[in-house]
Amino acid sequence: TQRFVWPMAQFGQVINMYQRAYASAERVFGLMETPGRLEEATDAPALSVTDGAVAYDDVTFGYGEDPVLDDVSFEVAGGDTVALVGPTGAGKSTVMKLLLRMYDPDDGAVRIDGQDLQDVQITSVRRAIGYVSQETFLFYGSVRDNIAYGTFDASDDEIRRAAEAAEADQFIRNLPDGYETMVGERGVKLSGGQRQRIAIARAMLKDPDILVLDEATSDVDTETEMLIQRSLDELTADRTTFAIAHRLSTIKDADTILVLEDGRVVERGSHDDLLARDGLYANLWAVQAGEIDELPEEFVRRAIQR
Ligand code: ADP
Repeated sequence: TQRFVWPMAQFGQVINMYQRAYASAERVFGLMETPGRLEEATDAPALSVTDGAVAYDDVTFGYGEDPVLDDVSFEVAGGDTVALVGPTGAGKSTVMKLLLRMYDPDDGAVRIDGQDLQDVQITSVRRAIGYVSQETFLFYGSVRDNIAYGTFDASDDEIRRAAEAAEADQFIRNLPDGYETMVGERGVKLSGGQRQRIAIARAMLKDPDILVLDEATSDVDTETEMLIQRSLDELTADRTTFAIAHRLSTIKDADTILVLEDGRVVERGSHDDLLARDGLYANLWAVQAGEIDELPEEFVRRAIQR
């Protein structure tokens, strides 16, 4: 098990080093932030998900004057896993915010199963997409209600099964009042790994067509890391998944890796494709594998110029 877990941490560290050294942006996905101006026709139809295929067509977007995404295009087949890799500030979270329709592109379109997100009800988009991050928001309430959050008609049985699938059932049972234990502000304090598994259970229950994983590097121990990985594998199987990826396993096994730099997709392909290219990805990889000590000068220079 050590062998499996160790490189996941290492890759995160490399990305972190890269981020700490060259990044300006704080790395906050900010689901709670105020969305930009979004317009919705009163008679807009609901999004209808069939395969869960996602397409970005020449998407350009900026929060203000400066473009943050520059002509981003890619396609994801339904059920595939896409890993987004790249330094902080490259635009990974922004790509995801456009999928959740927190903002609309300035140019181009984001489509799910061929439907331009700007033409469908915003709530139907949000319903179709699950979001799991380490900075999961727990409100003051029972563990049960925190898992059921957003799925109003969930039975106790469904909630317990979701928790089991998320490897959370056991620790929940060990809490003072089990599923009725109050958590969140003023409640029992949960560890980062526990909160993350609550988030996974919440997503399991929601059973969304498309999943967004924000894999912030976690401070959890290796055993918990294993549990989280196992539950994530279950959650992402047969579901279109976007991962802002730090975990080696996610990245290696992803159907497609998109390497973002400065708002552009600079490399794309499978892990093996990208290693063969010997670009940014291959060099990040070589650093983490200990094959080279630091990123070659050309990549550092590029990052500093941003
Ligand atoms: P990543 O997820 O790759 O770290 P982001 O998508 O978070 O990158 O950020 C891309 C760029 O957009 C950065 O320059 C960042 O400062 C900027 N940015 C992100 N969120 C906002 C926001 N809410 N308002 C203004 N600028 C933002």
